[in-house]
Amino acid sequence: MKSLSRQDLGIPGCGYAAKGETVEDVKEIMFEHASLEHPDFIERTLATTLEEAEAAEAAVLGAIKDVERF
Ligand SMILES: [Zn+2]
Repeated sequence: MKSLSRQDLGIPGCGYAAKGETVEDVKEIMFEHASLEHPDFIERTLATTLEEAEAAEAAVLGAIKDVERF
């Protein structure tokens, strides 16, 4: 099981943690949460060059953690 929290990405004041079976699941869930609750973050993330977008993607992937299944 995979888990990713906004704190892992360095967004203060957000305790939300996305969980899913795969990295793709977690990314999708977190993107949905962020687009609802943190549109400014999404805007910042999308308003980048391809190179920066790839770096952001790598940071997200690096922040996703393996967690024990409940
Ligand atoms: Zn949040």
